[in-house]
Amino acid sequence: MHQYIDGGLADGTGDEGLSVLDPATGRVIASSVHAGPADVDRAVAAARAALPGWAGATPGERSTLMHKLAAILDGRSAQLARLETSQTGKPIRLTTNFDVPGTVDNVAFFAGAARHLEGKAQAEYSGLHASSIRREPIGVVGSIAPWNYPLQMAAWKILPAIAAGNTIVLKPAEITPLTALAFAEACTEAGIPNGVVNVVTGLGRVAGEALIGHPDVDMVSFTGSTPVGKRIAEIAAQTVKRVHLELGGKAPFVVFDDADLEAAIHGAVAGSLINTGQDCTAATRAYVHRSRFDEFVEGVAELFAAVKLGDPNDPATDLGPLSSVRQRDSVAAFVERARGYGAKIVVGGEFPAELRGTEFENGAYYRPTLVTGVSQDSEIVQQELFGPALVALPFDSDDEAVRLANDTPFGLAASAWTKDLVRAHRASRDIKAGCVWINDHIPIISEMPHGGYKQSGYGKDMSAYSLEEYTQVKHVMHDITGLARKDWHRTVFD
Ligand code: NAD
Repeated sequence: MHQYIDGGLADGTGDEGLSVLDPATGRVIASSVHAGPADVDRAVAAARAALPGWAGATPGERSTLMHKLAAILDGRSAQLARLETSQTGKPIRLTTNFDVPGTVDNVAFFAGAARHLEGKAQAEYSGLHASSIRREPIGVVGSIAPWNYPLQMAAWKILPAIAAGNTIVLKPAEITPLTALAFAEACTEAGIPNGVVNVVTGLGRVAGEALIGHPDVDMVSFTGSTPVGKRIAEIAAQTVKRVHLELGGKAPFVVFDDADLEAAIHGAVAGSLINTGQDCTAATRAYVHRSRFDEFVEGVAELFAAVKLGDPNDPATDLGPLSSVRQRDSVAAFVERARGYGAKIVVGGEFPAELRGTEFENGAYYRPTLVTGVSQDSEIVQQELFGPALVALPFDSDDEAVRLANDTPFGLAASAWTKDLVRAHRASRDIKAGCVWINDHIPIISEMPHGGYKQSGYGKDMSAYSLEEYTQVKHVMHDITGLARKDWHRTVFD
């Protein structure tokens, strides 16, 4: 595999590549460029050279090309779904019905939104001047993406940036570069000029840090873990770059005593297991009113036990492997430590025995895991584990539920389950998170913003809000009197 620079596939400057594995089998499926600082320099130079032309294009011109891109990606849906499944292990049902259509919709949304850049105030205010607002691109954007939704993350980073007239260098996660490269190729086919979209593949510490620290990069946009986000903000501060951080989450799932319990149980299973739990908004902490706790735990355990794990390419498979053996082992270690401090593993907590002796026995699989009997301050409740494990804890009052929901460093997403409208409004007001679902958990749409509170980061992806991240506002003030000397000048000198 190559990287994608200046409208074409490009070799890397280093000699060894990085292996891309199929996490379902552990087999090597591709090798990607291990980009170093020289590769980043080339990509940033291409993005810089393309900037005046792209920033100078009209919103309508940019929009037309982005609509073409949406059509190309849509026509390639099946191929993209297979490619995404091969490098992530996501079930083909998920990539076909969620990752790819979500990406196409995102491209189509930003193709339209490109024509709606606007300022908040634009008029004559003093009688002497007229003011107008220019919304200008920031320049060259350096973006870094994680491995959990490689195609969607490429879209979330690239689309608002280029819709607003920026050019971009994206570094996908080292273990999942394939669909970001396919996306960049489609951009060129759609007629988006060379250098507007570039992809360098490589390690975070090498290519990632070279990109963030690069003096010719004007803005950094990052999705990934909170510790790496902190490091990125530190590096970017040296050159005072604008920073947009979408970081980790530990979403609470609050079930009040009047909730429709069947809906909540199904919602908890889908909300915690989507993408094998590797979703920054996944339900991870279920707080359930004590009067409904046992019923909830029993219902979730029954559905968890029935989940079908196996071949990601089989449309009947519910759950694939995690994205890597390393990630699976990290999740398993969280669960083992929890066992050590007294947790009850109601179901799961192991490799699925039915896959032993099959071609998936070296895959990064882990059975859906439900944990109870831990305290609020335990590691498994407080820290992001990023896998198919849900912890359930009881609560006794509404106030306690909200307090527990807010009691982690994260604030990305949450849900509240109740039939009572007032309770629902109170929960959505009082829970500190960038998104609160009522009686559901997970859905997102291109029109609405996604982004965190607290240590889940700052800035928004998707929606018209994200265009604000990728533009800077310029106030232009015009003299409308034609008088060489105005009255107010006398306040400075007579
Ligand atoms: P990660 O932070 O380990 O890596 C993310 C990216 O950062 C990768 O491309 C990696 O190569 C790069 N990177 C690592 N170290 C770097 C460094 N020192 N300098 C520059 N780049 C560096 O995260 P991950 O394990 O790939 O993804 C999982 C994390 O992403 C979870 O914490 C999850 O919550 C978060 N996430 C957040 C959102 C959101 O919208 N808030 C969405 C998806 C994932």
